[in-house]
Amino acid sequence: MCGIIGYTGKKNSVEVLIEGLKRMEYRGYDSSGIAILNDNNEIVTIKKKGEIQKLINAINDRKYPSHTGIAHTRWATHGEPNDINAHPHSDCKNEISIVHNGIVENFKSLKDYLLSKGHKFVSETDTEIIVHLIEEFAEDNDLLTAVKKALKKIKGTYGLLVISKKLPNTIIAARMGSPLVIGKSDKQMIIASDASAIISHTNQVLYLEEGEIAEITVNDINISNIFSNHITDPKFIEIDMTLEQIEKGGYEHFMLKEIYEQPESIRNTIRGRLDKTNGTIRLNGIKKYINDLKDADRIIITACGTSWHAALLGKYLIENFANIPVEVDYASEFRYRNPIVRKNTVVIAISQSGETADTIAAIYEAKRKNAIVLGICNVIGSTIARITDAGIYMHAGPEIGVASTKAFTSQVTVLLLLAILLGRKHHMSFDEGLHLIKELEKIPDKINEILNSRKYIQKLSKQLYKHTNFLYLGRGFNYPVALEGALKLKEISYIHAEGYPAAEMKHGPIALIDDNMPALVIALKDSIYEKIITNIKEIKARKGHVISIATKGDKEIGSMLKDVIYIPDTFEPMAPLLSIIPLQMISYEIAVLRKLDVDKPRNLAKSVTVE
Ligand code: GLU
Repeated sequence: MCGIIGYTGKKNSVEVLIEGLKRMEYRGYDSSGIAILNDNNEIVTIKKKGEIQKLINAINDRKYPSHTGIAHTRWATHGEPNDINAHPHSDCKNEISIVHNGIVENFKSLKDYLLSKGHKFVSETDTEIIVHLIEEFAEDNDLLTAVKKALKKIKGTYGLLVISKKLPNTIIAARMGSPLVIGKSDKQMIIASDASAIISHTNQVLYLEEGEIAEITVNDINISNIFSNHITDPKFIEIDMTLEQIEKGGYEHFMLKEIYEQPESIRNTIRGRLDKTNGTIRLNGIKKYINDLKDADRIIITACGTSWHAALLGKYLIENFANIPVEVDYASEFRYRNPIVRKNTVVIAISQSGETADTIAAIYEAKRKNAIVLGICNVIGSTIARITDAGIYMHAGPEIGVASTKAFTSQVTVLLLLAILLGRKHHMSFDEGLHLIKELEKIPDKINEILNSRKYIQKLSKQLYKHTNFLYLGRGFNYPVALEGALKLKEISYIHAEGYPAAEMKHGPIALIDDNMPALVIALKDSIYEKIITNIKEIKARKGHVISIATKGDKEIGSMLKDVIYIPDTFEPMAPLLSIIPLQMISYEIAVLRKLDVDKPRNLAKSVTVE
């Protein structure tokens, strides 16, 4: 998500830190900040909302001689992006300062505890509790021990850097779930979220492992385990990568990186939201409106593009689990066609960026009709997050590839969480709720299994990439997936593709079938398996080339078709989170084979801020 960097060494730390922040800009951010130990051994902190240039302008006015400091580009998860919520955060006495990449799940209970101990908080972030916890433990311990004790209390993820007045020229770095790399060169050490901020100084790096904590000075580094105190010998390796390669995490394109990030982004979407004790879901953001949703006569979900496909799945999920009628509307249509919004209608708007102009206009129209409007978006503090009554954040991390991949699966995950929560408020039993939650936890590993089939998908794409028309078919929960699969192909490969509910084929599109028309059919072993097999036979009878997404272990389909991509079995309503993955991968591989600019497809923009 965000980027953090720390420096201690012979150079002016401010310059190194700012240069590092600039290099990590691609990771996405909404604000940035810096804290340095100046020559008088005071901590000076400067933070600014918006682009890094604003921070640079604020710093340029003054001179800050310093050799140790930390800095942060924030991608907010708790508390809107503003100067105060930006990192670094300090303790009550401004003696300790930290930057943090990650989420503290149990921050509420820890904050209550710290408030009872007299700590004063200034921001709305989860991060601020970490520095006060460290302060609390630093009363009786050295800094390293205090940080370890604090981290043992924390549930969640962190890449963390700490500086303290009491330990000048030292940085403490800790990692759990968010990456940290340490670079070493002549009389200087740089620690950052990724090597892009380090590479211009040195190619000698050490990747901190999960659960490790390092005490770093110019000449020395001590690494131990936060939980076991086990000591590790620091072993630096040489990296041989260009800046661009590092930014893309070694992947050829951002889109591919984001496809591969999906196990992680889904974990982040569900983090802290599964309530196993009660077999239900916790969505604090919409707590106030949960009864309005539960008692709604009708829910309208409005969105555009990929988010609209997620919305359609939302309809299937909410109607299935909670028995509430759901209507799905293109935002651009909703706003102009005088939609019917009654007293008990709740409107949900979905947008990755939270800035989609059509969706914003639809929200205003719904508000004019006095509806409660909830938002589902990825970017904290975005327009949609601000103008809706409440919302659920996706926490998918910044998405840079124009064709949405991980945002889609996180949107679907959010809708699944909402559907289970509403289901539990209606007739769903504890057992069923728990059963679903447990299966949802397995989804990221199952996605990883699919991602391992890249070689096969590449081989398949070689057979396909020269075709000019494609059909995508699916039924039930996999019908919206067929639509999304077709859209991915259109967006980045510029190939005409149609998504259809498989049974609709015989009402028209079947006329298109010949040996030149590949049909991608999602045919999973579910309640409508037999029906979709019939549809496949209909295509085959007309010499169509069928490529199927099927359930692992399905021998019947294997004996019928040559080209089958197998995916792991899961509960029917969760299958879209798996079946979309090979379709994303096929679009990607086909676009690469057609030598197209995958991350910046022609005519498209990442967030559509015009009508
Ligand atoms: N959870 C922290 C916040 O909202 C850190 C977010 C990040 O990783 O940028 O401030």
